[in-house]
Amino acid sequence: MTTTLGNAPLTAFFFEEPLSSLLESLSLYLHVPFCHTRCYYCDFNTYAGLLSLREPYVRALLTEIELAAEMAQTATGGPRRVRTVYFGGGTPSLLSADQIQRLLAACRRVFVLDSEAEISLEANPGTLSSPHLQALRAAGVNRLSLGAQSFDPHLLKLLGRTHSPEDVAQAVRAARTAGFTSLNLDLMFGLPEQTMAQWRETLLGALELAPDHLSLYSLIVEEGTPFFHWVQEGRLVPADEDLCAEMYEYADALLQEAGYVNYEISNWARPGHECRHNLTYWLNLPYLGLGAGAHSCFGGRRFSNVREPRQYIRLLASRQRPEAESELLSREMQMAETAILALRTARGLSLLAFRERFGLDFWQFAGKRLQHVWEAGLLEYERENGGWLRLSKRGRLLGNEVFLCLLPDEN
Ligand code: SF4
Repeated sequence: MTTTLGNAPLTAFFFEEPLSSLLESLSLYLHVPFCHTRCYYCDFNTYAGLLSLREPYVRALLTEIELAAEMAQTATGGPRRVRTVYFGGGTPSLLSADQIQRLLAACRRVFVLDSEAEISLEANPGTLSSPHLQALRAAGVNRLSLGAQSFDPHLLKLLGRTHSPEDVAQAVRAARTAGFTSLNLDLMFGLPEQTMAQWRETLLGALELAPDHLSLYSLIVEEGTPFFHWVQEGRLVPADEDLCAEMYEYADALLQEAGYVNYEISNWARPGHECRHNLTYWLNLPYLGLGAGAHSCFGGRRFSNVREPRQYIRLLASRQRPEAESELLSREMQMAETAILALRTARGLSLLAFRERFGLDFWQFAGKRLQHVWEAGLLEYERENGGWLRLSKRGRLLGNEVFLCLLPDEN
């Protein structure tokens, strides 16, 4: 029996095609590791002061696209179909539209890119002009994700962001005029000094711009960042955990009232605007990450590239694959990851799809391990459409307890 993940009636956000065909397709992530300046909280693989490397880096990416297609073809015996392309960073909007167009043309040349493929690009609101947006749209980008983060000028400054709230509003207006019909805004909460009133203003500011999608992230103070040092030195006080939980609940209620569906723990969308690329990750489908430090999951392996852009460029100049680390995924691990990732979504895990994918009943795999979190009320089961398992309201706050139970013992 073939499972079509899209035919269950809960929401319309899953792909309307059979699981077997999804497993044979690919998503591509292209990493752009350049930023004008470094935000104080950021631990992404991105660099300030390397803008002169943009063109050599794009040429290296063009070579890696070819090498990746050869690898995918060897594994499957034919060109691999691509459903989504995502330019992430860093700040991909620091590349010219011509560079983006060349990268997309290379993807089309060596992969089979769906005519309706979702092609997303992350952009910093301060780096966009109307002509640039029009050229990006003409190059084939059809979804724009803006790192708005806050509509409070003081908090933006505290984060080390270089844009203003007005830059976000202008970028949204210009993107709409350029023909973007799918727009995301990233917002952050749980910031040092942030009050509930400021968070409310940020949410209202975002809603006024009527984005199609919102991603809300609570600040995590990562080691090695200026924020981390300032917290160590006592110069910065991290937000209170209870306040963070309140901010999340408040945002969820406000956004749902405004017609957005919370389809994944950190993501809300108007129906039909769920991010198909990110769904690739949450459904644990194959993807290739290209560029410095990018991660891939393909052919039963998880692997990642060298992180340093110059080293990446050097390797590709001699047509060497830039892979730095690789891990074989046991079947147990693949089953655990599939369940954990799906449980992050509002719809949850399709037990029918799990059985089709792994030839094993989910309860046989995880029944015993989940017993105590089940008894603690962290999970809900729905019988329809072959059975769905999802986190309960309480389970969403304690998701990590559920996820830990699912991991194989050796981990
Ligand atoms: S713009 Fe984004 S990627 Fe660049 S430094 Fe700031 S948070 Fe990091």
